[in-house]
Amino acid sequence: MIKAGVIGVGYLGRFHAQKYRDIDTVELAGVYDSNTDRAREIAAECGCDFFTDVDELLEKTDLLSIATPAATHYEVALRALKAGKHCLVEKPFTRTLQEARDLMKVADSKGLVIQIGHLERFNTVTSRSYSLIKEPRFAECHRLAQFTARSTDIDVILDLMIHDIDLVLAVFGDKITEVDAAGVPVLTDKIDIAHAKLVFDNGAMVNLTASRISNKAVRKMRIFQRYSYIGLDYQKGEIEVFERLGGEGNYRINGRVLPLGTTDAIRAEIISFIDCVENNKKPVVGAENALKALEVAQRVISGIEKRMDLI
Ligand code: NAD
Repeated sequence: MIKAGVIGVGYLGRFHAQKYRDIDTVELAGVYDSNTDRAREIAAECGCDFFTDVDELLEKTDLLSIATPAATHYEVALRALKAGKHCLVEKPFTRTLQEARDLMKVADSKGLVIQIGHLERFNTVTSRSYSLIKEPRFAECHRLAQFTARSTDIDVILDLMIHDIDLVLAVFGDKITEVDAAGVPVLTDKIDIAHAKLVFDNGAMVNLTASRISNKAVRKMRIFQRYSYIGLDYQKGEIEVFERLGGEGNYRINGRVLPLGTTDAIRAEIISFIDCVENNKKPVVGAENALKALEVAQRVISGIEKRMDLI
């Protein structure tokens, strides 16, 4: 039976541990957290061992979820990969492009899977949307969250906007000719709210807004293409479609809602990761995808920094 471990069992890592525990074909070998009390607590909850030495956990596992703060992803993942373990690394993959490339090199040389936790890819709204999106010309993305004081080692672009950047690249492609952005720190010393405009080589344009200081949570993408509008509500688990039916001068607008409901995206993500490891498959969101998202995120961040210098 494949043996799994989780490094970093805070808010999100706890869910990873619970999912591995509940999948019949996996044994949750244990958890490690730099906060030993937290590791002990989650191990008791999940009925597994906890380790005070990360290398001891690595010895007992085939694959791991890494759900430590973003600033530590590189060092933790490097250690796991060097030990020959497949890794599901939470988003953002790393903070720098160089770190991401280094990890990819180690994984490639050892034939290991790296999957990145771009969780929305496992939302049924995403999988259902692909057959509706034909030639997208314009999109508006909103990802707003209440302030939690978690993930303040990174700005809102690497924390939240990166989810939408990844989704947009999957739909619009990666030929971005122009990036313009603005953002400001409000509650932390990093950018807490940001807006970015991406222009693609075919003229398509996407506006992204991300905030981690909102009074309500929103996760939506609105896509416009010739003759139709597709509204994706990742939070509600709903797709709204309005489309023009009929010919020129004789058309009507047909609207419909596809109520997909919410599903367990973390479980789906982990099952997909295990499938890649066991059957030598390419991950739905692999290191290459995450590197591209990180490249765009870095362009957004440098656009904001340039603008701040002017203010
Ligand atoms: P958190 O602060 O609740 O948990 C982080 C845990 O890691 C803590 O328990 C901490 O003690 C531990 N830790 C810190 N450094 C460590 C190290 N070097 N080795 C081992 N353990 C260490 O944070 P969180 O909200 O759970 O976020 C963790 C990661 O998950 C971040 O990368 C974040 O971006 C990501 N995340 C992803 C999503 C998503 O939708 N995919 C959602 C939330 C968080």
